[in-house]
Amino acid sequence: MENDKNLENERATGELPERKNFIRDIIDDDLKMGKYNTVHTRFPPEPNGYLHIGHAKSICLNFGIANDYNGLCNLRFDDTNPTKEEVEYVESIKEDVRWLGFDWGDRMFYASDYFDQLYEYAMVLIKKGKAYVDDLNADQIREYRGTLTEPGKNSPYRNRTVEENLDLFERMCKGEFPDGSRTLRAKIDMVSPNLNMRDPVMYRILHATHHRTGDKWCIYPMYDWAHGQSDSIEGITHSICTLEFEDHRPLYNWFLDELGIHHPRQIEFARLNLTYTVMSKRRLLQLVQEGRVNGWDDPRMPTISGLRRRGYTPESIRLFADRIGVSKADSMIDVSVLEDCLRADLNKRAPRVMAVIHPLKLIIENYPDGVVEELDAVNNPEDTSMGTRKIPFSKVLYIEQDDFRENPPKKYFRLSPGAEVRLRYAYIIKCVGVVKDPKTGEIVELRCTYDPETKSGSPQSARKVKGTIHWVSPQHAADAEVRVYDRLFSVKDPSGENWSEGSRFAGKDSINPNSLEVVKGCKVEPGLAAAKPQDRFQFERLGYYCVDDDSQPKADEPLAQRPGNLIFNRTVTLRDTWAKVEKS
Ligand code: ATP
Ligand code: MG
Repeated sequence: MENDKNLENERATGELPERKNFIRDIIDDDLKMGKYNTVHTRFPPEPNGYLHIGHAKSICLNFGIANDYNGLCNLRFDDTNPTKEEVEYVESIKEDVRWLGFDWGDRMFYASDYFDQLYEYAMVLIKKGKAYVDDLNADQIREYRGTLTEPGKNSPYRNRTVEENLDLFERMCKGEFPDGSRTLRAKIDMVSPNLNMRDPVMYRILHATHHRTGDKWCIYPMYDWAHGQSDSIEGITHSICTLEFEDHRPLYNWFLDELGIHHPRQIEFARLNLTYTVMSKRRLLQLVQEGRVNGWDDPRMPTISGLRRRGYTPESIRLFADRIGVSKADSMIDVSVLEDCLRADLNKRAPRVMAVIHPLKLIIENYPDGVVEELDAVNNPEDTSMGTRKIPFSKVLYIEQDDFRENPPKKYFRLSPGAEVRLRYAYIIKCVGVVKDPKTGEIVELRCTYDPETKSGSPQSARKVKGTIHWVSPQHAADAEVRVYDRLFSVKDPSGENWSEGSRFAGKDSINPNSLEVVKGCKVEPGLAAAKPQDRFQFERLGYYCVDDDSQPKADEPLAQRPGNLIFNRTVTLRDTWAKVEKS
């Protein structure tokens, strides 16, 4: 992978720790002891939403380990819940994993591929006297289960004979009983200190149509029953999951041991939490459904599709996964760590261009009318192989409103009355006048003069001024809309108290009302008229920007003649603008 070279460089220069972690230590040991002789992992998403940056951590971990150990990684959809899963999600998940740069080869599976095999395995456990059909309903099961401090009680149906269990289970499967009336449970230990071992439910009755198996089944396996056995069937060696499954590991092992089948090893790690965002699919779905964002791929969403649309690169996300590493302890990663990975990557490869987001007109009084100079501009000072380009310069220019102050504060090195600045790649100019709207008093135009002796790159240009500002020539520039994004939430941990389970999203106050600002009437240098969705640039002095998917030109129109809908997303600012705020 192209980026791995970069990572190797980062490692060699000490910026990045060697890819070493406790999971790799366990794998190394297993290989040394001959417990397994290959490494086979899997990424097992439930297709009930779009993937988010937390999933990216898991993807990079599972596929990354497989790559580094010359092993394999499967993509497996955990589609055991027929009511919540949709084909749209399956497609988006495939696209996201591929975009991140990983390949599952011909090993894309579904838990539903194994429904027949799981049924056979269940029969094996029933015949061994290790599973039984229970007639208690969900509430009763909960009641009998006990609590962390109280032992559970055996169900009155626990001692059914094998024959009776086989008969009832087959009839459950044939659809003779209504939803929720019976379950198949593992017969383990109702007084186990681990609640997961108190006769966990393996199957429930649910007359629902499944997106792949249709109406073939009216019993569906529970996660714990499906997951480990699916791992085993696929020959997985290391089943890497998040910490909340640690207490499920004894059950994972129990099923495999009782069945006597290939036994993968479950290893848990801490899930990723990021500041100023939420990471649960359920909550992200709520944001989408309540219209608080414009869909799963809204550039403010922490989904992979949102990050992609925002302008994130797969390399930056893989770099992030590498930098944060994996551990056993839950923690909250500052979102600025993710943004820094993006800056590090874009700095190396995003072409520099000039764009003016809030234009202020500037006229160079002593510059000849009608003359257009083509000036040389460097595409990327970090990478000379990216070459140079020509940009047009003329008498009438636009600069950023922010780059002029009528009454400048101390140490203001940009433009103000009587002051000099360099126009990037062009000349030193001096502000000699300010034109205001007679009614509003608003500054509408600056009058300047230029010093022809100071052209950038010419031998005479040795004269120095403190400030350099960017500009565009409006006569040549393309029109653009810029969408300026900020954090979606204004509190550090919005998944905390403000969400009330099951009810309407109660965290309204924690949503940042200024997370999206749409700026129209921006001007970008002419070359950008041909930019395509997903193209990324550094707007000099402003930040990194990416062409939004909404700015598709009409199909039959050549790119150079934009139909007027060139839209840029602000991907990230040049520096962390929040750092100062947080310190103060
Ligand atoms: P969510 O709560 O967001 O719905 P989930 O764990 O239910 O997450 P799955 O589709 O079941 O989502 O997850 C697929 C894989 O991704 C699992 O192995 C899971 O452990 C992992 N994963 C999910 N969220 C994170 C996270 N925040 N950090 C690391 N790994 C994660
Ligand atoms: Mg899940």
